[in-house]
Amino acid sequence: MTTDALSFRDPDRADRLRDRLERLVAAVDGDVRVMHVCGSHEEAIAEFGIRSVLPDGLTVAMGPGCPVCVTDRPEVDEAVALAEAGHVVATYGDMIRVPGTEKSLAAARDAGADVRTVYSASEAADIARETDREVVFFATGFETTAAPTAAVLREGPPANFSVLSAHKYVPPAMDVVADHPDTRIDGFLAAGHAATVTGTDVFESVVERHDLPVVVAGFEPLDVLAALVFLLEDLRDGEATVTNAYPRCVADAGNERARTALWEVFERVPGEWRGIAQVPDASLRIREPYAEYDARRRFEIETPADDGRGSDCICGEIMAGRAAPRDCPLFGEACTPRSPVGACMVSDEGPCRIQHAYGGDR
Ligand code: SF4
Repeated sequence: MTTDALSFRDPDRADRLRDRLERLVAAVDGDVRVMHVCGSHEEAIAEFGIRSVLPDGLTVAMGPGCPVCVTDRPEVDEAVALAEAGHVVATYGDMIRVPGTEKSLAAARDAGADVRTVYSASEAADIARETDREVVFFATGFETTAAPTAAVLREGPPANFSVLSAHKYVPPAMDVVADHPDTRIDGFLAAGHAATVTGTDVFESVVERHDLPVVVAGFEPLDVLAALVFLLEDLRDGEATVTNAYPRCVADAGNERARTALWEVFERVPGEWRGIAQVPDASLRIREPYAEYDARRRFEIETPADDGRGSDCICGEIMAGRAAPRDCPLFGEACTPRSPVGACMVSDEGPCRIQHAYGGDR
């Protein structure tokens, strides 16, 4: 670990920020409920025990920020169908164990399908360069991974390469959660890594629409505590603004090259976020000029009908901030990391898996 990283874990500074939070919570008469929208934030909060040092009256809930968890079952089914049709399907490691309607990609692989784990879209394109077979990249994740997928398509990958896009775009999902009558949110912590691509300006519409402050935060313990201080200061002052609390990585306008690639290749369309809701303009579809690389246009994909299985899983409610992992009767019993029933127990960024690993009372 670098000295820089350690300086963001300095216990004395953490104590001072914690004291500041306590004073701010008192100044706003307590009972503040903040939502973060990032699995990496949940992991940092759990790993460093941040909830245990928060003052009474301040709750940090998880929102729809785990990309594996919000990938919809029919999207997994499409990837399984393509693998079972004899194509090579390459995807990120976490996705392989996410249950579809009848099976996961792992189960398809166990039955003989060629399913490979990759760390990037470019690695999947490299697989296509080494074979004559069709290689489909099952592309999941938010802006952070969608931009590299876009970059690969702009570079002109091999003709036997295509993308099954399950990429999602976060800000409209924040709108859906904030609009829900059963969800109370006083402010958002936004994900610093997604904002490195799109910048902080994209959250202005969330602020205007809901009159809620948004703070873009990094992932070290002091990043999270400092971001909470900024949020509480806005609430104390009766202001709703976008604050960049991660300026060492995030520019207000984002990364122009990455943003240009992202929106040249993808367009925003309505789509289902697993268990949460149909979210307008928050699923990323490949635009017409790149249609030749779109697996949905290249192949006829037959998927099983949704039989309602998995309905005991409340992952969607957890991702929408309306339940906690321990509210699920399957947690730690029928559903464990070794035998996951829902996507939230699969991913390292999934709230159920994180709680299973670190404990706590979130
Ligand atoms: Fe779903 Fe398992 Fe989490 Fe329950 S414990 S909500 S079944 S992932």
